[in-house]
Amino acid sequence: MFQRTIFSHEHETYRDNVRRFIEEHITPYHDQWEEDGQISREAWKAAGDHGLLCASTPEKYGGADADFLYSAVLIEEMAKASASGPGFYLHSDIVAPYIYHYGTDEQKDRWLPPMAAGDKIGAIAMTEPSAGSDLQNIKTRAIRDGDEFVISGQKVYITNGQMSDLVIVACKTDPKEGARGISLIMVEGDRAGFKRGRNLNKIGWKAQDTSELFFDEVRVPVENMLGGEGRGFVGLMEQLPQERLIQAIRATAVIEAALNWTVEYVSERQAFGRSISSFQNTRFQLATVKSQSTMLRVFVDRCIEMHLKGELDAVDAAMAKMMSAEMMCELLDDCLQLFGGSGYMWEYPIARAWADARMSRIAGGTCEIMREIIGRSMFGNKQLA
Ligand SMILES: Cc1cc2nc3c(=O)[nH]c(=O)nc-3n(C[C@H](O)[C@H](O)[C@H](O)COP(=O)(O)OP(=O)(O)OC[C@H]3O[C@@H](n4cnc5c(N)ncnc54)[C@H](O)[C@@H]3O)c2cc1C
Repeated sequence: MFQRTIFSHEHETYRDNVRRFIEEHITPYHDQWEEDGQISREAWKAAGDHGLLCASTPEKYGGADADFLYSAVLIEEMAKASASGPGFYLHSDIVAPYIYHYGTDEQKDRWLPPMAAGDKIGAIAMTEPSAGSDLQNIKTRAIRDGDEFVISGQKVYITNGQMSDLVIVACKTDPKEGARGISLIMVEGDRAGFKRGRNLNKIGWKAQDTSELFFDEVRVPVENMLGGEGRGFVGLMEQLPQERLIQAIRATAVIEAALNWTVEYVSERQAFGRSISSFQNTRFQLATVKSQSTMLRVFVDRCIEMHLKGELDAVDAAMAKMMSAEMMCELLDDCLQLFGGSGYMWEYPIARAWADARMSRIAGGTCEIMREIIGRSMFGNKQLA
């Protein structure tokens, strides 16, 4: 019987704490958040108070200096509890690392402690109406004017977009250059000229806010640039493996949870005077889910180990992200089928997980772009987003 080996006793103790936190502070409110299209500020603050935000950030910046396994535990437990509303991992494991890795001491002092405390919420805005996969072609401009940048443009599909206090914006500082003309600039949520558009109506992830953002000659001091001028694309490329691994961790945990929900349901549900689980078709379907999810689990845990050693490359991360996303969509569909009509009802976690799963083949780099990265690596590697 396959057993996971990557977590220590301390990680499992942390897992128990995370489960209790979710039971108390997330699950009871999630239905309401789905109606609201976003979670509450109180939930962010509670997560900060319980030390669940920015755990891998050094203690001097308000974090716990924890290894990435603690992030993995939080991602897994949120996935198993169908808690898709809180954009915690984007905030803690995508936005905060940009500030930590590329920020000046002043930027780290200013932003990381309140982010770890849940007082400030972070977002990252790359995608635009006319450029998603083709990130080099973004149009949002940042023009230097004395000691300020003036930012004009539009972003779309931005997670935490409604609630964010800080947005890291990918801008063109030199439109003549492609990738080398992109810089990352931090925009505070209350800057004049910065407007949030609609909270977009998605087919899943209903409790998570996803927004259009508009920048109408937004002025920020030059000190808001993150990393050097023209270094934005390189920074994005360096951080994407962790973002893609996170998606794989989440997807794998969701498949495992779906298998458990399905085994429980088919054991109780009767048809033709027998348990659904007694049909050979049910056992065969679930045998496939079990086998494929175990194979995925082995690879994803290995990727986590490599990431802990700083050895996870873009190709391994792309394989983990692509396979986990596609397997999640396919296997959740098979599980949902075994629920019959109940599987199509929103009150069942399998229905929500099925709707949430579709996003993973698109966001954070589509599966087609993952195939390009993997495919090109075999033929002299030309880097893609
Ligand atoms: C719920 C959600 C949350 C998101 N959160 C964020 C966020 O926080 N921040 C952010 O910046 N973005 C975010 N995104 C945006 C996401 O990263 C993009 O949607 C994604 O990168 C795809 O870009 P696009 O939508 O412009 O599709 P397009 O790039 O227009 O792609 C359309 C289709 O063409 C295919 N295609 C494109 N190029 C190629 C190619 N070279 N070869 C083969 N096929 C190709 C794609 O795979 C896709 O199937 C989010 C998206 C969603 C759905």
